[in-house]
Amino acid sequence: MLVMRPVTIGSIAGIPVRVHWSFLIALPLLALVFGQNVAPATQLLHADPRALAGPLYLWGLGLTLALFLSVLLHELAHAIYARRKGAAVHDITLLMIGGVSRIGETHEARHEAVMALAGPGASLGIGVLAGGLEALVPAGWLDLRVALVLVAEMNILLGLFNLIPAFPMDGGRVLRALLATRVGALRATQIASLVGKVFAAGFVAAGILGGGIFLFLIGGFVFLGAEAENRQVKMKSALGRVRVRDLMRASSAIEAHDSVREVAARMVREHRTAYPVVDHGHVVGVLTLGDVQKVPDERRGRVEAADVAHPAPPVGPDDEAWTAFRAIVDSDVPVLPVVDHGELVGAIDQSAIMRGVELGGLAR
Ligand SMILES: [Zn+2]
Repeated sequence: MLVMRPVTIGSIAGIPVRVHWSFLIALPLLALVFGQNVAPATQLLHADPRALAGPLYLWGLGLTLALFLSVLLHELAHAIYARRKGAAVHDITLLMIGGVSRIGETHEARHEAVMALAGPGASLGIGVLAGGLEALVPAGWLDLRVALVLVAEMNILLGLFNLIPAFPMDGGRVLRALLATRVGALRATQIASLVGKVFAAGFVAAGILGGGIFLFLIGGFVFLGAEAENRQVKMKSALGRVRVRDLMRASSAIEAHDSVREVAARMVREHRTAYPVVDHGHVVGVLTLGDVQKVPDERRGRVEAADVAHPAPPVGPDDEAWTAFRAIVDSDVPVLPVVDHGELVGAIDQSAIMRGVELGGLAR
């Protein structure tokens, strides 16, 4: 299968906004679906759809872009609240069936619940605002009134639908946060994802029975999401029982000013594919086999290790293995330096983390 990465289209408040190719595929289809909602909305205002300017398909296209913006504002509400509570916000991706914000952890269940409510809250707010504005527009401005009614409908639906407790949808996140205060995060996630899967099965069934392709897709998305979150929380629980020092290996470093050619030779000699890089005793990053391969052979003698190294957040030997796992995922490097009192004491990589998941699962 052809895997395409989402395209970054810009950033808002420092948060990269990306669009997944599935959204572009869905665009003409969505335009068609939304075009069909224009006539009923016009009749709601006791007017004749034939009085509207432009073909319905163009209206549909405009509404699809309005939906795109509405989803973006919904996700921004989640992201901005999360950031104010100290969580890292990596990016927002708009997909065919909605948006996804990649947000780091908030440490309190209370923040988690409010963060989940921020999105639907924003959508409902926009919906009510658009509906209120429609009442203020002169009766003769039919096109603007119909557009406002459609934007109101769209946002209120978006808000209400996301409040369904189908974890990992927003309502399900609120449910999990409420459960977590009573039974702990692990059990709460297990219960919430079971509830999410039941809803997901319902969405899929409703999609097949005439609810349409999007409901079907959302069902599939929710089911996979519930499973993934459940797995991740299990992993977090296991890795919370293991320390970095139990999984790390001794690692020598390479010097910042070593040439990439020397590093390549050393990789072959020592059968290692990644090294921490130090400059005057301070860890400045990590250099991997992939970084070496990117430098053309004839230039390897002149390029220094520090020029092609990745920044890598160091972890401490007494940190939970979970912290190292998150750092590896967030920084997208395969190995992290382990630093104790400013000194490099080892390295931890993905396979060590996987060993930690197995060991932590045993230690109960
Ligand atoms: Zn949301």
